Amino acid sequence: MDLYSGYINKLIEELAALPGIGNKSAQRLAFHLINMPKDKVTRLAEAIVDAKENVRYCRECYTLTDREICPVCANKNRNHKMIMVVENTRDLAAYEKTGRYEGVYHVLHGAISPMLGIGPGDIRLKELIERLQGEVEEVIIATNSSLEGETTAMYISKMIKPAGIKVTRIASGVPVGGDLEYIDEVTLLRALEGRVEM
Ligand code: ZN
Repeated sequence: MDLYSGYINKLIEELAALPGIGNKSAQRLAFHLINMPKDKVTRLAEAIVDAKENVRYCRECYTLTDREICPVCANKNRNHKMIMVVENTRDLAAYEKTGRYEGVYHVLHGAISPMLGIGPGDIRLKELIERLQGEVEEVIIATNSSLEGETTAMYISKMIKPAGIKVTRIASGVPVGGDLEYIDEVTLLRALEGRVEM
């Protein structure tokens, strides 16, 4: 379709490739961007490139950060013997917002999904095992309560229990299939406090 100029079509195509953005939203965004003042567009473009170039994985927990070690891992007052396993950096942020969790995290960047062809080797599980060589007392599995999240939780539990480390799962007060990042802080805290040993 050549309704628009090639440049606009290209922009729509790139935007539509982003998660959660359909063709209609992509068109709306594209025209919005075209109508924005040039300096604002430049700032947005630079923010995207800067983030891409400067954000990296924390050397310890693998969350996204702009330092070698993220602020949580670098904090000596946190309990480094307690590791909460989450699917992504947004989930970590959700728990951090409660301000009540004192341990550290491990970010998997995904969950096991045989349907989507995502296996244990495709997420940061090996890195979690490596961390368990150190002094760890408890691993709290806080993956989502979706099928993928539960599969991942079971897998991790089976994998690390033989090492004699306490493995707990956050309580099921979290709605089934619910993404952690959309759950309010009170519910998150309740899920954390009500965690049960696996
Ligand atoms: Zn970290």
